[in-house]
Amino acid sequence: MTAASVTVVGASLAGLATAEGLRRQGFDGVIRVVGEEPWLPYDRPPLSKDVLKTGPAEHPPYLRSEQAFADLQVEWVLGRRCIALNAGDRTLSLDDGSVLPFHLLVVATGARPRRLAPLDGVGGVHVLRSWDDDVALAGDVAHASTVVVVGGGFIGCEVASSLRHRGIDVTIVEPFPTLLFGPLGAEIGERLNRMHSDRGVQLVLGATVSGYRGGNRVEAVVLEDGRELAADVVVLGLGAVPNTEWLQDSGIACDNGVLCDATGRTEVDGVYAVGDVARPESSLYGRRVRVEHWTSASMQGAAVAMTLLDPQARGELVRVPYFWSDQYDTRLNYVGLHERTDRVLVRGSDGDAWQAAWERDGVITAAVASGDPRLLPAMRKALGQPVETHWPIERSRATRVS
Ligand SMILES: Cc1cc2nc3c(=O)[nH]c(=O)nc-3n(C[C@H](O)[C@H](O)[C@H](O)COP(=O)(O)OP(=O)(O)OC[C@H]3O[C@@H](n4cnc5c(N)ncnc54)[C@H](O)[C@@H]3O)c2cc1C
Repeated sequence: MTAASVTVVGASLAGLATAEGLRRQGFDGVIRVVGEEPWLPYDRPPLSKDVLKTGPAEHPPYLRSEQAFADLQVEWVLGRRCIALNAGDRTLSLDDGSVLPFHLLVVATGARPRRLAPLDGVGGVHVLRSWDDDVALAGDVAHASTVVVVGGGFIGCEVASSLRHRGIDVTIVEPFPTLLFGPLGAEIGERLNRMHSDRGVQLVLGATVSGYRGGNRVEAVVLEDGRELAADVVVLGLGAVPNTEWLQDSGIACDNGVLCDATGRTEVDGVYAVGDVARPESSLYGRRVRVEHWTSASMQGAAVAMTLLDPQARGELVRVPYFWSDQYDTRLNYVGLHERTDRVLVRGSDGDAWQAAWERDGVITAAVASGDPRLLPAMRKALGQPVETHWPIERSRATRVS
């Protein structure tokens, strides 16, 4: 199938990267991008970091300049949600009743925050994924003195750090014994516990929120053991769910994301998936991998653009994952992909500067460092290398090992 026009659903990072990849390779056909939000693609990482520290500006932090967006010559269909993909007649149904035909299609609908049923629709309770979420949250915390963050994952930790910057009292409620227990495990989580307690965050660990006190507006969250934590504002940081429901009757298989081959191709001819919503096969890891990181979304858009124009190109979506997280004045960098059963090695316990690596069968599978971004090139090089020779990871190795 050669490309006459390409339609992208989802006007964010992965969708933009797809459009840019197509133009970069000389595609001069029609590119149409449909997006539920009213905004041109903007950057999400600042929403839990600088934007929350300072309060939002008039518009989101756009990913490109006005000129760069114009140069792309994309037909933007914004403020419209796709509600169905009809594989038979190759059309999309939108929430305003309109129907769009498509030729080649890329699904880049990302993910949305997981919610907590007992707190649904209660005033003062927020999630954080979009610019509109951020504006609502920033408006509310402007008058808040006490905020409860439910969930000690990356978003929860970043929100806590930004709110502490504003002098707000913050409590994090987390069911596991440490912050970031799920993604990074207990040994590293303990360091995060220290980092946040040292900055005055109250940690309520091993606890879950079961309800709230207040009428239309939250006054306190109620824990499963009956304890109450006063809260002017509550922020839920409970992870994200891929936006696949609209594909339900499309013939495209979804299971914790859109199932696709290594190049993003789904079961419907000419329909691909990229970014946070995609769960592609990976020859690198020998299984399906759904990644929710900025760099992956960007690289996957570029990779699928290659395949759309030349199916023989077979651009693989999954590369070695990388993400960063900024908390207080410290940047945490992670590279690779570890399994929970991998053995973790940690070095450095003073303050916020430390590094860790995971090891399986004597080989380094992933590495994370806090407080030393210059370690990143050496961390990348250590992946797949024997622990014996590459642990601890040293900056000088970046030049020594080639
Ligand atoms: C607050 C925050 C902080 C983050 N910080 C970091 C960080 O520090 N480091 C890092 O590596 N990553 C970070 N991330 C993750 C990173 O931003 C995501 O991996 C990236 O945005 C994924 O891009 P995407 O285009 O795949 O999906 P998304 O950015 O989720 O975009 C999907 C778009 O599709 C739209 N959409 C959904 N359904 C439909 C539909 N049916 N019809 C039309 N449009 C639809 C959505 O409204 C959205 O605009 C952060 C994310 C958030 C929310």
